[in-house]
Amino acid sequence: MNSAGASALSQGCAGCEVCGLVVRLPVPAGAASCPRCGERLHGRRPASIERTWALTIAALLLYIPANLLPVMTTNTPLGAVSDTIMQGVVELWSPTSWPLAIVVFVASVTIPLGKLIALAYLLLTVQRGSVRSNEQRVRLYRLLKFIGRWSMLDVFVDTFVVALIQLQPLMWVEPGAGVIYFAAVVVVTMVAVNSFDPRLIWDLPQQEKQAHG
Ligand SMILES: [Zn+2]
Repeated sequence: MNSAGASALSQGCAGCEVCGLVVRLPVPAGAASCPRCGERLHGRRPASIERTWALTIAALLLYIPANLLPVMTTNTPLGAVSDTIMQGVVELWSPTSWPLAIVVFVASVTIPLGKLIALAYLLLTVQRGSVRSNEQRVRLYRLLKFIGRWSMLDVFVDTFVVALIQLQPLMWVEPGAGVIYFAAVVVVTMVAVNSFDPRLIWDLPQQEKQAHG
């Protein structure tokens, strides 16, 4: 038993993920639903690790075109210039607009990648049956869920930047294909975070489970 005590699953119970009611699972394990709200009960969400891995890798693959393809094309009477997100950050970097460059860099480049690294870390530690720093890993998971709500911040920032550029006469901005991939990274990452079952963090490694019966 670890510092958190025995898990509900090791005692044949599961908490309803919708209303929180703790229910004894039928033996042998079969389909069960919550007597209070009717939600399907799972000791652990089925194939949570596999699904979360698949979505994390998909988001990581989408992150590549998101950064390599132009996110905006700036049209002037002299011609059109297409910029990727990093080129945009470099162009924004000036004595007056450097804070905006940092916000765009953090919101569009650092946070999406950081979320994927954090998800991979949670998956790897769960697969290795780690029992260390469980509280910190749960906090990390909660942080991922919290950031998910603010994921469209980079879209907001980019719109803001476009609005600033539009203020100049004879100049207009069009979104590039990179924006679609950025949106896909955000959505796929949110689905990945939701498919991860945080209860897995508290599960003991296989050998210990047997030792404790
Ligand atoms: Zn319920």
